[in-house]
Amino acid sequence: MPDLLADPWGRWILASVTEFDIGASIDKISARNAYADLVFPKDDVILPEGYDQILAPLAEGLDIRLNRPVKRVEFDEDEDGVYVDGEWADYVVCAVPLGVLKAGEIRFEPALPARMREAVENIGLGSVTKIALKFETAFWDEDTQYFGLQTAPVGRWGYWVNYTPFVDENILLGLSFGDYAFQADGLSDADITRDAMEVLRNVWGTDIPQPTAMLRTKWSQDPLFHGAYSYPKTGTQIADFEAFEDPVLDRLFWAGEHTLFDYHGTTHGALLSGRRAAHILVEWETSP
Ligand SMILES: Cc1cc2nc3c(=O)[nH]c(=O)nc-3n(C[C@H](O)[C@H](O)[C@H](O)COP(=O)(O)OP(=O)(O)OC[C@H]3O[C@@H](n4cnc5c(N)ncnc54)[C@H](O)[C@@H]3O)c2cc1C
Repeated sequence: MPDLLADPWGRWILASVTEFDIGASIDKISARNAYADLVFPKDDVILPEGYDQILAPLAEGLDIRLNRPVKRVEFDEDEDGVYVDGEWADYVVCAVPLGVLKAGEIRFEPALPARMREAVENIGLGSVTKIALKFETAFWDEDTQYFGLQTAPVGRWGYWVNYTPFVDENILLGLSFGDYAFQADGLSDADITRDAMEVLRNVWGTDIPQPTAMLRTKWSQDPLFHGAYSYPKTGTQIADFEAFEDPVLDRLFWAGEHTLFDYHGTTHGALLSGRRAAHILVEWETSP
């Protein structure tokens, strides 16, 4: 068996497929559980108008209060309920990202059970960084969907998506993976643009135009996320993800991509975990 880590082509595949998919650098990923999850059988889809197409209908009629991150969840066993930042609730479904739990952004009183705290610690959280660059004209082959570039260090803008088939704009979307994603998250807007452009100029030449607009992510630096998505790191057990299946003190339920091993790290995983919490709650409330 060839040493994929030593072979530049093999290392590119490990970055652009495995590190992208799992969301962490190859040395941190659990060999045992990395691909023990499930996938839906049909083709992937792209939502050119964004996820609002899915979220807006789901959110219709709900009282959603934005820009109010929860800081405190207090269980009141005497009164059979929960206080969320001082506001009373019969039940709580906690769907904040794993990174928010890891960073202790929410104070739970009493503290969460040990099994749950261990799960928060044990499950890995990586970063994947995207930069979208818009140009006056397309200098790349518009019929090619993806461009794979061998870059140094590995994971640095090694994968580019051509957006011209989806939108009427000349946009290239670059991706950084593994350890480099965290490095890229730390760059200023000017530096990340310069960094990505250096990679493009290496391939398409120094006379390609400057972008007219730039949009970037920095998930690992955002206090509302602290990372991109969960993954099984070396030592993570599937049981760590399963810890979130059980409510705490019969009042606090869990949802979010990190709470459903089979589809963790995906939008459908997040959706299914929310449905799971809702079903348990409704069953609970309606059973005699
Ligand atoms: C680069 C990248 C590429 C991806 N590609 C795909 C893909 O191709 N296909 C796919 O299916 N999935 C993909 N995903 C994964 C998918 O986006 C996530 O798994 C999904 O969005 C997770 O949903 P969630 O509801 O668990 O968490 P989130 O969508 O992160 O929602 C959690 C919410 O909690 C809020 N919050 C944070 N702190 C607090 C607080 N203290 N109080 C109240 N609210 C708080 C946050 O603001 C956020 O709105 C990708 C993710 C990334 C980062």
